[in-house]
Amino acid sequence: MTPFDLADFDGHEAVHFFSDAGTGLEAIIAIHSTALGAAAGGCRYWTYQSRGAALIDALRLSRGMSYKNAMAGLPFGGGKAVVLKRPGLRSESLFKALGRAIDSLGGSYITAEDVGTTVADMQAVAGSTPSVSGLMSAKDVAGGNPSPKTAYGVFISLQAAWRYLTATDLAGVRVAVQGLGGVGFDLCKRLHQAGARLFVSDMDADRVQRAQQEFGAMAVLAEVILSTDVDILAPCALGAILNAGTIPRISARLIAGGANNQLAAIEDGERLRQAGTLYAPDYIVNAGGIICVASEYLGEGSEDEVWARIEQIPITLRTIFEQAAAESLLTNVVSDRMAQGRLLKSARPGKGGAATSKGAQTSNGRDRVVRVDG
Ligand code: NAD
Repeated sequence: MTPFDLADFDGHEAVHFFSDAGTGLEAIIAIHSTALGAAAGGCRYWTYQSRGAALIDALRLSRGMSYKNAMAGLPFGGGKAVVLKRPGLRSESLFKALGRAIDSLGGSYITAEDVGTTVADMQAVAGSTPSVSGLMSAKDVAGGNPSPKTAYGVFISLQAAWRYLTATDLAGVRVAVQGLGGVGFDLCKRLHQAGARLFVSDMDADRVQRAQQEFGAMAVLAEVILSTDVDILAPCALGAILNAGTIPRISARLIAGGANNQLAAIEDGERLRQAGTLYAPDYIVNAGGIICVASEYLGEGSEDEVWARIEQIPITLRTIFEQAAAESLLTNVVSDRMAQGRLLKSARPGKGGAATSKGAQTSNGRDRVVRVDG
């Protein structure tokens, strides 16, 4: 079976496989689209059950990045790197090797943090390539770890979506948060400040304990977090958790969280609607991080400007809700349709994105690949 044969292959422009014997690196970089610019999307470092599972994740995540970047109005296409995690493998040299792999793509893919990777890992990548962001902030430009920006975008989207549903605020509202990493923990902090009652789970017991201590959260077993009796579910761990098996057990009226690719399949949007649950499309609400990463990479945009841009996310979300309601469509379908429209509008027949790109200078002096029109 080749990548072309997989159900998640969606006309991806390129899928690159890298290995490095010296460091043990095995990585897949999927470039879904460069129609809007170089493919930007984080690097996931994760233990996969198989290389096939890693490939599927790379295909799904990179497509999601095309949609996310398009809907956030960023001049970037969609791509994602997946590094296969094995015991004892993590090292600076591993991420330097990843940097060399990314560099060989000539600027068509730009990486940053995702699940399992840190600012330090991206700094190691930056030792081998300029095609990386999410490093330390320059003094007058936003940047660094994108997770707090992602969490803020998720929080204000969740708040706006709950208001859309109930015309009330979050005080006393029960929210289940799955995953207490960079995004989930920060989201809990904001939800706690807003008076929400938290139910949390993570594989990492220390993170759960911290959430209990700092936010009075109720710890829930990982197996039952999705079916906990709550008002809102905020998935902030991995993808495909909303599926035919889990949806019948979900009682939340709203799902709004940071995790990428929450729906296992498009049909799961219909399952949620039938269950009476409003779904806030993940790549809309979790765009805060990539907005910050893009600003840092382009060398433009102060902290204030980035926060202000993130505050536009609930406006896009509301448009999707209203359009879905007006046309009796699913929120995920309306969102995908809008994103596909933006990609199509910028695509030129007969021209692959990467092949029609050229180097240009960002205001921070780095080369970047931009789309050449015409
Ligand atoms: P992270 O690696 O910091 O944290 C992920 C957390 O999820 C970890 O604590 C892990 O133990 C936990 N987890 C994994 N499987 C779980 C399960 N089955 N049940 C409960 N907990 C589980 O990752 P992150 O940066 O917080 O990202 C979380 C999600 O948000 C991911 O899907 C990521 O792709 C997405 N996302 C992140 C950003 C960002 O800025 N970091 C931006 C957009 C989207």
